[in-house]
Amino acid sequence: MADSIFKKIYNKEIPSEIIYEDNFVFAINDINPIAPVHILVIPKEQIPTINDINADNEAIIGKIVLAAKHIAKQQGVAENGYRLVFNCNADGGQTVFHIHCHLLAGKKLIWNA
Ligand code: AMP
Repeated sequence: MADSIFKKIYNKEIPSEIIYEDNFVFAINDINPIAPVHILVIPKEQIPTINDINADNEAIIGKIVLAAKHIAKQQGVAENGYRLVFNCNADGGQTVFHIHCHLLAGKKLIWNA
């Protein structure tokens, strides 16, 4: 599997500011934000889509959500609220095939599927 753009960011082959990192995940600001806070929480392991989550790697989803919770608090949006989104494949709007969780906040979000 070729390295994803997120893997290249983590490996410093593409410039971006890593705003959070732990043993399992890292986070960056989305380059094309759709909310005042739009952060991507990304596992260090490159897993292409949510369809590839299985019994062997399911723990990473908990790590992503825990990191997102922590980042939301850091960003000062935990109390007002936020949205966590995983897009999967074409109809889900996925464009980068390395799973990532969008943390959206900073305004009243409209539910508009
Ligand atoms: P998705 O459409 O769910 O796969 O989300 C991919 C996200 O990655 C989009 O919101 C893009 O704006 C974002 N993105 C793509 N390239 C970069 C980059 N170099 N730095 C930060 N965010 C990026």
